[in-house]
Amino acid sequence: MEQSKERPGQEEHIPEDAVVYCDGLVKIYMSDGLKVMALQGLDLEIKRGEMTAIIGKSGSGKSTLLNMIGGLETPTAGRLFINGQDLSSLKEKEMVRYRKSAVGFVWQKSTRNLFPYMTVVENVEAPMLFAKGNDRKRRERAKMLLDEVGMLSHADKFPSQLSGGEQQRVAIAVALANEPSILLADEPTGAVDTKTSDKIFQLFRKLNADIGITILIVTHDISLADKVNRVIMISDGKISKEKVRRVASHAWNEGESHEEYVVMDRAHRLQLSEDVLEKAGISSNRVRLEAMDGKIIITPPKEEE
Ligand code: ADP
Ligand code: MG
Repeated sequence: MEQSKERPGQEEHIPEDAVVYCDGLVKIYMSDGLKVMALQGLDLEIKRGEMTAIIGKSGSGKSTLLNMIGGLETPTAGRLFINGQDLSSLKEKEMVRYRKSAVGFVWQKSTRNLFPYMTVVENVEAPMLFAKGNDRKRRERAKMLLDEVGMLSHADKFPSQLSGGEQQRVAIAVALANEPSILLADEPTGAVDTKTSDKIFQLFRKLNADIGITILIVTHDISLADKVNRVIMISDGKISKEKVRRVASHAWNEGESHEEYVVMDRAHRLQLSEDVLEKAGISSNRVRLEAMDGKIIITPPKEEE
């Protein structure tokens, strides 16, 4: 019997420790009768326990990617695996459960994170209401989480009585309520000042170290690149570059702490920046490749004047 597969011969091996595995993700939106390609065949792998920032200009596809990982959007093409499971294989009910407990979201706007008419501790309990458990246990866990984010002493206040940074701390506790395996944050420091933003990143790092949760933060703010170990650059709906923190550097506020790489996609394509091409004086759309001594050398065609 013949079996039809979407991509014959492409049965992929998903690494055991990959929490997020994107394979050629494409997302097309229709906008005023025009197709907008928000993701253009994006490949990405995030390992368990990693804290990663995805940085790119406005409109580069960051939110689309995060929403897809969070189960709020479905890909037009390509595949997305979370903890080894193909998200497209989930039935509707499983998808609802996935959104509520496998992932935790922190948004830029506090109104999207917190109910204004509930106290801080009630806000943290709210996502737990759909799961099993009793009131006492929920309260205990909510307080434990508030302690973890340094907000226990504000448990009985309302969100409007808190500063922007404090609201984001509570939002992080809310996102952690159902023990998600991934914490997703979309511009979490977009509405606070630099000092507060620093503290929020400190908190993300502490949670990452304390409970080992995988954290994915998207932002347009390039200065935040120094605050995490792994930085992925997204442009035009594709991963273009990656920066990895040098093991030896330990100060979180110094520049030049990361090694920069260009990312090769799964079909072995890589994108050369205008910058690099200009420096090398290459303007032709044809180049010569030569491999030698562990290097690949790119040169313009010989016949070019
Ligand atoms: P970012 O978060 O990096 O700013 P987005 O993922 O929000 O980028 O958007 C990527 C592209 O897709 C943009 O061109 C945006 O206008 C478009 N887009 C996003 N969401 C929608 C939508 N619901 N309908 C139509 N176009 C959209
Ligand atoms: Mg966005």
